[in-house]
Amino acid sequence: VQHDPILRIPSSRWQSLLGELHLRTRGIHESGAFLLGRVGDDARIVEQVVYYDDLDPNAYRTGVVVMHGASFGPLWELCRSRKLSAVADIHVHPQTARQSFADRDNPMIAQRGHLALIVPYFAAPPVRLETLGFFEYQGAHRWRDLSGRHVGRHLHIMNGGG
Ligand SMILES: [Zn+2]
Repeated sequence: VQHDPILRIPSSRWQSLLGELHLRTRGIHESGAFLLGRVGDDARIVEQVVYYDDLDPNAYRTGVVVMHGASFGPLWELCRSRKLSAVADIHVHPQTARQSFADRDNPMIAQRGHLALIVPYFAAPPVRLETLGFFEYQGAHRWRDLSGRHVGRHLHIMNGGG
């Protein structure tokens, strides 16, 4: 039986995340972030966002997101100190939210069950959920594609709070 992942994020945090991602592209390169949170019984709850360029100022230099190994030390340290896990990652594409070969071959966190989200069109507003890429890593460079009109089963944008 396959367990369906649920990622839960307060609406205000989701909106500010999209706004920041859009801003950080400067309209010319990708941007992205790790989503840190707690793993509950039925869902992963996003509590903190860590932008790639805050961990590594060179993350966007090639135009596509490249995280260098040195960035992961500070990331794990942050997770440890805040008692959070990296529950997902998210990055923007200049066009559609299909996974590139690099996205498929190099998961940001190569852990079974890890979630990778892709926002199309540099996250320019309005971002419609059905246009997002939403992928679950299955290990061995295989992914489950949960994108599309049913993505709301897996991505819960919660009103209030944040
Ligand atoms: Zn990509």
